Amino acid sequence: MTDLAFTRTAAERLPAAEREAILRDPGFGNHFTDHMISIVWTVDAGWHDAEVVPYGPIAMDPASSVLHYGQEIFEGLKAYRRPDGSIVTFRPEANARRLNESAHRLALPELPEELFVRAIRELVTVDADWVPNGQDQSLYLRPFMIADESFLGVRAAERARFLVIASPAGPYFAGGVRPVSIWLSEGLARAGRGGTGAAKCGGNYAASLLPQRIAAANDCQQVLFTDSATVDTIDELGGMNLFLVRADGTLLTPQLNGNILDGVTRRSLIQLARDRGHAVEERDLTVTEWRAGVADGSITEAFACGTAAVITPIRRLAGEGFEIDFGDGAPGALTMSLREELTGIQGGIREDRHGWLEVLVGAEAAA
Ligand SMILES: *Cc1c(COP(=O)(O)O)cnc(C)c1O
Repeated sequence: MTDLAFTRTAAERLPAAEREAILRDPGFGNHFTDHMISIVWTVDAGWHDAEVVPYGPIAMDPASSVLHYGQEIFEGLKAYRRPDGSIVTFRPEANARRLNESAHRLALPELPEELFVRAIRELVTVDADWVPNGQDQSLYLRPFMIADESFLGVRAAERARFLVIASPAGPYFAGGVRPVSIWLSEGLARAGRGGTGAAKCGGNYAASLLPQRIAAANDCQQVLFTDSATVDTIDELGGMNLFLVRADGTLLTPQLNGNILDGVTRRSLIQLARDRGHAVEERDLTVTEWRAGVADGSITEAFACGTAAVITPIRRLAGEGFEIDFGDGAPGALTMSLREELTGIQGGIREDRHGWLEVLVGAEAAA
């Protein structure tokens, strides 16, 4: 199975001038490359029919299980172009492992980690021209798995499909990093004990969209979710992990409690902070502690993190009848310095001392 070979069907490529116009200002998630990856799984044959095919609509039976019971998981990682022209990605084996943890929870088949990385390499190689080289630009890769057995009975599907699509991405914060406001969701939760909070599945996102809309109506850009029983113990944002910074330089972040995602960015920042000698506490954190810490000056910075935006500084937390504000529109110093270090490693301008980068396309091939 691990020697599964990809067949290639070449797409009609977007003319270079049009592609270059897109790459000048790609935004996020708006445009897609010429090809995609598709691999089929059936309970009898395992993973087979690995293909690089033209990007485009996929045919699906209306009875496909994913359309009714939401059996879907995904991943998100980026390919970066280094100054020498080579193309790298960041800790792809961590995404491969996490996809399998999500697959386990959603009763989907596991995909060999080696095949996950190879699928990404195939796509980035064929669509290498789509990896932009501008400041803070990347090619966002979206691997996902769907159940597509045509059957309305409720059980784990016996047929599934793994796909990878790719979308050029510009800087998340056009015009400079700006701290955001976040809204504490008090009545609506995204995860609960024993639920799917630790899996990267579409269902968790579906549950976060109404709270997100309420946040927007309250002039907040993101939602903070807590444990639904206490409405105090912090989980994470809808799609990002959370850190608080104490005045003494200690970083605080919720421990992996089964409700939150084990973020690759979270894990990498914990390592970089410890490398610098900062203490990092992974433990239960509460909104009460956050409010008290800002009031007495012991908590000085807050930020969210994830692959898409890397680090998003937070300046304000609001909820029904309260608001705490760091009182200064500028992002925190440690927040920005960790952001600069991590993006520097990813972009190939800082030393990759932990061996986090995986070369997808070498400088010679990319030239
Ligand atoms: C993807 C995701 C994150 C961030 O994970 P990274 O691996 O750092 O991109 C955090 N929380 C949720 C809910 C997510 O889906």
